[in-house]
Amino acid sequence: MQYPFLNIRVLLSLAVSALLLACANTTRSGAVGVNRSQFMVVSSSEVDRLSAISFNEQNQKAKEKNLLVTSGPAYDRLKYISNRLIQQTATFRDDTRQWNWQLALINTSTLNATCAPGGKITFYTGLIGQLNLTDDEIAAIMGHEIAHALREHGRERLSQSMAQSAVTNIALAAVSGYGSAISAANQAAQYILVLPNSRQNESEADAIGLELAARAGYNPEAAISVWKKMIKATEGKSSPEFLSTHPSGETRIEQLTALMPAVEPLYLSAAKPSPKLKLN
Ligand SMILES: [Zn+2]
Repeated sequence: MQYPFLNIRVLLSLAVSALLLACANTTRSGAVGVNRSQFMVVSSSEVDRLSAISFNEQNQKAKEKNLLVTSGPAYDRLKYISNRLIQQTATFRDDTRQWNWQLALINTSTLNATCAPGGKITFYTGLIGQLNLTDDEIAAIMGHEIAHALREHGRERLSQSMAQSAVTNIALAAVSGYGSAISAANQAAQYILVLPNSRQNESEADAIGLELAARAGYNPEAAISVWKKMIKATEGKSSPEFLSTHPSGETRIEQLTALMPAVEPLYLSAAKPSPKLKLN
């Protein structure tokens, strides 16, 4: 009667192996020391594919309304900052050079910015204009958003939802036809971009974003000023999109301040942005 015992052992060992396979760390820890194993049951390529469909759909809609900005000083400024930050992402993972990075600037009063899985960055002119963001502050927000993509927080949240059977109707692998692909992508986007980030994910994005900005030659202190600016500018108003997806706990500024000694030397030794290309 050893077979049942052996079977249980084999099953347990298989279960443990599957769990270990599902737990991965998407990034290297960097100077800021982000190091947490993540639970993943859906593949990066599938999440990136859905993310690209959703991003293209967003841009197509903006283009139809004549709201998609693809040239001019505001776009060039954002593109320049994004290129500098993207160059630094190799600190945290090796595959980002192969990512199909894209940047969308949308001309609405929305106070928001995102970076969807696989490197699809969206900024709204409202965020830059209403908060009168400096280049350093844009780099702080963009670095934070890029960090969510590097850590694959969207994929992680989707994986957690799938494990809890909350997303049973997203037939991720079996979508066929353009309409159903968009529908699946939009459902996935709810988990990837619309639901609030956890405090832990926010702390990770703050830490990695800070290091990306410092390495790209942008003053990391701007991460603190921009959060203060955002909270002040929106006092007494209905919560803007950015704050609804990025819960701003009281500890955020404390944690950013505590990380400054780790990133200041990187900032001081980094090549600085070209003044000629600073368009603000
Ligand atoms: Zn965030």
